[in-house]
Amino acid sequence: MNKKFIYLIGLILGIFAFILNAFVVANMAGGVPIYFGSAIVLFCLLALPFRISVLVLCASMAPLLIYESPLFIGWLHSLQFFVIVTMLHFRVRFLSAILLFWLVIGLPITSMIVYINLSLSFQVSVFIALPFILSGYICGMSALLVYWLLPINSQLKKFNILPKFSRLVFEFNLVSVMLPLFIVVLFFIWRSTEISEISVSRDLDNAIEELNRSSIALLGNRVHALTSTAALITNEKNIQYRANILDAVANTTTNIESMVVTDKDGMILIAAPDQYAAKLPKLNDINISFREYFQQTKKNKESVISNAIKGSGFGSLDIVAITAPILTENGFEGLVQAAVKLDSLVDQSVINAIQNTKIALIVTDAKDSVIYSSPIFGLKKLALLEKNIGQASYTFSLPKITISDKEYLYREFSNKNGWKIYALTDPSRIFKDTSAYFIFMVIIFLQNIVFIAIFSRGLASNIVGPLRNLEAFIKGQKEPERLLEEAKVSQEMFNVTENVIKTQKISEDFQRELKEQVTEKTKELQALNVKILSVSRTDSLTGLFNRRAFNEKAQQAYMFYKRNKKSCTLAFIDIDHFKNINDTYGHKTGDECLVDVANVIADMCPRDTDIVARYGGEEFLIFFASDKPQLDLDHIKSIHQAIEDRQKIYTDKLIQLTVSVGVVNVVDDFSKSMVDLISLADKQLYLSKGNGRNQINVITI
Ligand code: GH3
Ligand code: MG
Ligand code: MG
Repeated sequence: MNKKFIYLIGLILGIFAFILNAFVVANMAGGVPIYFGSAIVLFCLLALPFRISVLVLCASMAPLLIYESPLFIGWLHSLQFFVIVTMLHFRVRFLSAILLFWLVIGLPITSMIVYINLSLSFQVSVFIALPFILSGYICGMSALLVYWLLPINSQLKKFNILPKFSRLVFEFNLVSVMLPLFIVVLFFIWRSTEISEISVSRDLDNAIEELNRSSIALLGNRVHALTSTAALITNEKNIQYRANILDAVANTTTNIESMVVTDKDGMILIAAPDQYAAKLPKLNDINISFREYFQQTKKNKESVISNAIKGSGFGSLDIVAITAPILTENGFEGLVQAAVKLDSLVDQSVINAIQNTKIALIVTDAKDSVIYSSPIFGLKKLALLEKNIGQASYTFSLPKITISDKEYLYREFSNKNGWKIYALTDPSRIFKDTSAYFIFMVIIFLQNIVFIAIFSRGLASNIVGPLRNLEAFIKGQKEPERLLEEAKVSQEMFNVTENVIKTQKISEDFQRELKEQVTEKTKELQALNVKILSVSRTDSLTGLFNRRAFNEKAQQAYMFYKRNKKSCTLAFIDIDHFKNINDTYGHKTGDECLVDVANVIADMCPRDTDIVARYGGEEFLIFFASDKPQLDLDHIKSIHQAIEDRQKIYTDKLIQLTVSVGVVNVVDDFSKSMVDLISLADKQLYLSKGNGRNQINVITI
């Protein structure tokens, strides 16, 4: 593969991943971001060498660090990369690796991180983590899809092992069905979160409005009672009558704990009902001018509802004071004050109704002191409301509030006195529908796997079956008739099968023909070999054995005689003065003479065991077993005689030939070699020649 090309592709994909993660991040379900650069990184993992994929991973991570995205997303991103690399190393297929990673590692880790960081319930954490899982699947499957769509001979396709067709079909079906489904589910989760957030927001607002309305009604009644009382008291100068009026109002107005009338300097003049009236003479100079509500009433000459007051001095209960000024032509002449117990400030029946809808409530005064709080918070009355307010990462606009380390979604309302009503609810409320979608998704997922498994099996047996049959046929394990019958799944398959069968037949015929030809040629070659062998062992002029054949045959025979101690005879025959014949009558005549002598010798040595050879120019050798040495010698003599007796006319000339013979007769001494025997015979021949030729000399050993 061209290295530069691969690096260039890596560079382009790296830039692409950077841009995607920097600028094309989808924010799902509030603040959960989905980074599409992840798809590019996963694609690199499939198509490019590991080291280049790591560089692309770094490029895709950079924007996450630069733009201060949640850091754990970056970690999750690279963890996914390395876990999938590991699984691929162990030959887990890419799709299985993606599914396994997000289900077994990604979902628990993301949920845990959300759980720890946002201090939400674990169930809510899982739902916040869900879009990450879906985005992981979407990115992984998109990468796989693009990889599959690469041309088959693309340089970027690097199969370690060729995939099985049935597997490919299965994965392709799964991805093509699951990918759009995941996108739809992701969209639904996003939409349902948004819709349920709006609905939660509305519920909270309704709760606040209801509580506020009932509180206004309650307080309104009391303010009204107070202003009426103040008017009555203003008109009544008699102190006793004033006390009577106050007592009557205190006793008849519900939820009023006590009432007092002060002069313009804050000194309490009258108190009601009886138990407070009784306290009054015992206490000297009770002045409430230090109270903020007194000063406010005096200044504004209006009714005031105070902040919550911790009971002390005159009364010991926690109360809210309601005042009404006593105004005459001289101006502010004092006020009428009613103390209302905190408990009775809110309408419990309204609160119960709201709490039944899983909405909790907190009411504080302008100084953030708790006037009412739902029991689940465990807050003390009049305690300062310790809260932490912020934007929830998993909502679009609904803010979150943390009270006693627990997170709630909330809405608040301030009335004109600066009192606040908080309506709070558990964050899981907005994931109510998400859980339905999640279950729906799991069911669809499982159902799809079953369908796809069945479908893929069918498809595979239709397409892969004939291919397997073809393989079996080529191996000779399948009959062509059945093969052709089972190949009728598609026109292409049928054509291929038909052609393979034809080719196979041609190949078989060719092989058979070749075999026949080879057998025939082998036979011819063998015959030729026999011929060549015999030619190579025969003297072409006389038809006798040549020197080589003699050495071989005589050696074999001599070994046999040697083993069996069977006496044998070697005769060396040389034509006398043969040179003269050649010189006198010419070579042709010489040759004819040689053939003649050879024939005489051969005719007289007809036994299978007689070995006769032309040993050289006009020299012959005879080797045969001796039954009786004397008889053998006689036989040689008769050969010698027969040559001499034979008179033949060669080209009108009668030529008489004689031969000299040297004989070795082996009777006892088998220690000599064949070469020794020839040499011994040659010596006897030499003697014959030396002694005047035409004679036989014998040595017996
Ligand atoms: P000697 O009695 O001492 O054996 O005398 P010679 O002439 O027979 O012996 P020499 O060894 O001097 O000569 C042998 C001759 O045989 C020489 C050669 O011309 C002849 N000769 C050898 N081979 C052939 C052959 O194949 N054809 C013919 N025509 N002559 C041959
Ligand atoms: Mg000779
Ligand atoms: Mg000779």
